[in-house]
Amino acid sequence: MSSNSIDFKGRVAIVTGAGGGLGRQHALALAARGAKVVVNDLGGARDGSGGSVSAAQAVVDEIVAAGGAAIANGASVTDFEAVQAMVQQAVDAWGRVDILVNNAGILRDKSFSKMEIADFKLVVDVHLMGAVNCTKAVWALMNAQKYGRIVMTTSSSGLYGNFGQSNYGAAKLALVGLMQTLSIEGAKNDIRVNCLAPTAATRMTEDLFPKEMLEAFQPDAVVPAMLVLASQDAPNRTVLCAGAGVFEAAHITLTQGVWLGSGPDAPEQLAARLAEVTSREGEVVPQSGATQGSNEVGKAMAAKVDK
Ligand code: NAD
Repeated sequence: MSSNSIDFKGRVAIVTGAGGGLGRQHALALAARGAKVVVNDLGGARDGSGGSVSAAQAVVDEIVAAGGAAIANGASVTDFEAVQAMVQQAVDAWGRVDILVNNAGILRDKSFSKMEIADFKLVVDVHLMGAVNCTKAVWALMNAQKYGRIVMTTSSSGLYGNFGQSNYGAAKLALVGLMQTLSIEGAKNDIRVNCLAPTAATRMTEDLFPKEMLEAFQPDAVVPAMLVLASQDAPNRTVLCAGAGVFEAAHITLTQGVWLGSGPDAPEQLAARLAEVTSREGEVVPQSGATQGSNEVGKAMAAKVDK
């Protein structure tokens, strides 16, 4: 039985790209559980062209009609000055920002051979730099108030690859890299940074998924994962995958490895023992890049060197 214990009374949230799809569901759910919400959306087409604040305003109207508090914002997440003004808008209205859900996104799918550099750059600009801009714009105030919950929206296309999405996949995995460091830097001031990898039927996927899949993957089935990552008791540095009511976690692991030294035949030895090097038995998740060589694996290798 649900106790509805995750609540956001007194919290202020910004959800980017919340004029439709997953962002709209995120904004509605946060507002329904008490958050005051800045509903941001550029209101453009799926490929990022065009724009109007009316998509965000429609979601604000829905929230207000349901008794919640929300304001609309039409900034492009790619425009740092406009993003800073959006954060100021939240602070002027409600005095703080507790939660940032970096959700805005576009697609410019093409195989890498056919992809123009401009399409690669634009997708990286919206997904990666958009999240960087919004996070930078709330970072100082979250540090000062010693509280913040930031959700990056990554994707299985970034974690595992997908034909035609080299630009999108690269940008999406970059957000995991951003999370890895920000979760370390923010921890002392209770800023927790996590990633959500959703799967949902939205305009982004309407012509990519088969019909049966579109029916099963309703966007609201992703929302519980976002609510947990935005909540007071959120984990830190977790990649949660969510779709059709299924929840999983993705990890970037390190194998036990072998010590080969750097003698002249090291390449041949490595080739001969590649299966052992890549074996997943006993793999670990290092707590930071700096601990890669000082964790159990590192110690074991050092011990081998000493012998
Ligand atoms: P969507 O197209 O319905 O929503 C994206 C929203 O972002 C749109 O409303 C759009 O107007 C807005 N937007 C685009 N560029 C913007 C900008 N520069 N500034 C502000 N807003 C902007 O798609 P969705 O499926 O709801 O996607 C939401 C997020 O989830 C995206 O980051 C997407 O990459 C990610 N995602 C979705 C799926 C899926 O299965 N739907 C899978 C993996 C990741």
